[in-house]
Formats: sequence, C-alpha cells, structure tokens
Amino acid sequence: MKNIKDTKTSKEKETIRLKLEVVAKKLATTAKELAITAKEKEDVRLKLATTAKELATTSKEKEEVRLKLAEIAKELKIKAEQQNKVQVKLKESEIRYRRLFESAHDGILILDSETGQITDVNPFLEKLLGYSKAEFLNKKLWEVGAFRNMKASKDVFGILQKDGYVRYDDLPLETKDGEPVAVEFVSNSYLAGGTLVIQCNIRDITERKKVEQIKESKRQLEDERIKIQSIADATHELRTPVAIIKGNVDLAMKNAEGKTLKSPKMALKAINYEIKHLSGILADLSLITSKAWELKNRIVYEKVNLRSLIKTVVVRCKALSFKKNISITSKEIPNIEILGDKGYLEKMLVNLVKNSIIYGYENGHTVIDTAKSKGFITINITDDGIGIKKEDLPHVFERFYRADKYQKSGGNSIGLGLAIVKWIAETHGGEASAKSGENGKGSIFSILLPVKTL
Ligand code: ADP
Repeated sequence: MKNIKDTKTSKEKETIRLKLEVVAKKLATTAKELAITAKEKEDVRLKLATTAKELATTSKEKEEVRLKLAEIAKELKIKAEQQNKVQVKLKESEIRYRRLFESAHDGILILDSETGQITDVNPFLEKLLGYSKAEFLNKKLWEVGAFRNMKASKDVFGILQKDGYVRYDDLPLETKDGEPVAVEFVSNSYLAGGTLVIQCNIRDITERKKVEQIKESKRQLEDERIKIQSIADATHELRTPVAIIKGNVDLAMKNAEGKTLKSPKMALKAINYEIKHLSGILADLSLITSKAWELKNRIVYEKVNLRSLIKTVVVRCKALSFKKNISITSKEIPNIEILGDKGYLEKMLVNLVKNSIIYGYENGHTVIDTAKSKGFITINITDDGIGIKKEDLPHVFERFYRADKYQKSGGNSIGLGLAIVKWIAETHGGEASAKSGENGKGSIFSILLPVKTL
C-alpha cells in the first residue's frame, strides 16, 4: 500500500515538476518579456529624458530668441524715433532753405545736371532779369534770353558737368528789355536725393562795379597827377643845373671883363659838375622813354663775375653812405659768372644801394646777400630805413612814381631809379621785386637773374 502510495506520489511529483517546469518556462518567458519591456521602457524613459532635455534647451533658446527680439524691437523703436527726428529736421531745413531761396538777395537757378533744364528759379532772379518763373522753367540755361547771348553758355554747362564748379567774377548778362547787367556767377553741383543738381548763384555787381570804376578812375587821375607833377619836378631838376651853368658862365665872363668874381677854372669845374649831373638825368630820361627794341640793342652781353660786380657797387656807394654813417656789407657772394651788360648791371645795383642810403636813417645798415636756386641767382638789398607803405609797394617800379613826393631824397630824385632797375632786370631775363622788411621795418629789394654762360 505504502509503495503504491509512494509511486503515486512520485508520479504526482513528476507531474508537479513538469508543471512547475512549464510554469518556470512561462515565468522565464514572462521575465524575458518583462525584461524587454523594461528595456523598452528604459529606452522610452531615456528618450523622454532626452526629449525633456531637448525641450528644456529649446525653451531656453526660445527665451533667448524672445529676449533678442525684444532688444531688436527696442532698437528699431529708437531708430524709428531717430528717423522721425531726422525727418523733422530735414523738413525744417527744407523750409529754411526755401525761405532763403525765396528771399535771397542773389539770383538762384537750379538746373538738371543731365539736360541743363532749369528746374527752379528764385524771385530775385526773375526780378533782376525781368523774366517770369514760367519763362525760366523747363528751358535750358542757354535758351533763356539772359543767357542766350552768351556764346559760352553751353561750354559753361559742359565745364559744370565735368568739374562740378564754375565761377565768373564779372559776367555780362542782359535783362528781358536788353539792358546790360554785370553779375558774379558761381555755380556748383551737388547730390540731392540721389540726383545731381546744379545750383547757380547770380549776384548783381552793377553797384560794386560802379564803385570800383569810380575808384579806378580816381586812382588813374591821381597817377596822372603824380606823373605830371613828377615831370614838372624833372623839368625843375633839369633847370637847376642849367641855371647854375648859366650863373657860372656869367661869373666867369664878368671876370674876363676884369671884375674879380670867379676864376674861369673854378667856373668850368662847377659847370663840369653840373653837366655831369644834367647828363645823368638826361640819360635816365632817355633810357626810360625809349622804345623797348631800341633799349635791347644797347645791351652788350659779356661774362660778368658776380663777386667783383658787387664789390665795385659797394666801393662806389660807400662814398655816398659816408655822410649818413650807413654801413654797407655784402655776405658770402658766390664766385659765379652771369651773362649780361656789366654797365647796366652795375647801374641797377647802384640804384638800389643808393636808394637804401637815401631812404635810410643815420647809422643805418645796408646788407647785400645772394641766394642760388635752380638756374637763377637772387640778389637781395636789405635796409633798415624808412620802409615803404603797403599801398606804395606795387607802384614803386613805375616811372615817375615816388612813394612820398615830399620826401627829401637829397638830389636828383625824379622817380626813375626803380623803373630803370626793373627794365635792366627784365631785359636780362630776370625780375625785380620789393617787399617790406621784417616787422614792417626797412625794405628788401630783390633781383632775380638767370645764371647763363656763354
Ligand atoms: P626816386 O628817384 O624818387 O628815388 P626811385 O624810382 O628810385 O625814385 O624810387 C621810387 C620811390 O620808391 C621813391 O620815391 C621812394 O619813395 C621809394 N623807395 C625806393 N627805394 C626805397 C627804399 N630803399 N626805402 C624806402 N623807400 C624807397
């Protein structure tokens, strides 16, 4: 019995074991399935985590973008405000420009830079030239009567297109009625709203010209008066030695009649002196009144050593400067040779040094120096004398010009010395100029000469 029971139990056990095995298999499968699910879940979890992270990043970025957008919006607002302000300012300046344009006391024309057509004209120009706005507008500059007579009008426009600027100090225009109007014409081009426009400013200078003409005729009259006066002075200068000669002849003749007045020798000496003086003045006068070609023919060219030329001038002039105790010094003169007429070159420098003594103060100084430049030599004669007024400077080289005709120049001053200087310098291919010394004291006369060799 017990065995049967035992057998049954073992069978049952086997069944149970088999069952258990099945269950265990199922469990293993389930466990496997569960493991897969868990892995999937983990994957999902991980994915979710990544997504969450990504989402977090995106929202951060979104926030950043939002902030940036806010900033840009702010900037745009500021810019818009600024632009508004600029617009207001532009409007204001346009109004101001318009007012100036309308009320200007100068004529203003605006032209299209491409076609030359008049696009605007201000009331002043309408009034000045007698044309209405309609007569000006949409016509070309040279089609308007006032400019029509100007042969050069088209060329002017060409220059304007090319250079963007043109200026005429004195342009003759005509009104609609044919009256002449003198104007100053200044024109330039500028960009306005992307297009190039040309603005012409036209100023009526009739009054200014009248004043200038009056001034000029006054100056010419004064010049003429000075010249006539100078010629009278020159005549007087000539009469003095003649009178002295006559006096000496009389004295000598009286002596010849047995009266004791002046010995013929003394009289002849005095006459000789006056004749020299007289012929000096006559030589200057003939030099300055001769025709240019006659003068040119008198020049005898030779090589002249500059150093010895200046030395001779200094020695000769020292005899004159002695009385006023004026020193004459020459600085380092280069040992060069120039091509010219020795006699005339000497006369030119003597005239200048003589003037520095005549118009110099007692115990004054005259300095001669030179400066070399390419192909030229400049000789400067500087003094510390009375100087020359600014308004006289441009005229001192004119014939018969004397800066101050009441100025005692001690002797035969007839205002020819510098005219001769200028003539000699120019005939030698150079030039003469004068300027005030430093701080307006004294004068500096300069001679520019070409350095040529034979
Ligand atoms: P002038 O015979 O009168 O001296 P110039 O032709 O030599 O004639 O000179 C013309 C004028 O220039 C003089 O009258 C004088 O007023 C002025 N002048 C010439 N040289 C000098 C100088 N070195 N300093 C001041 N004035 C001068």
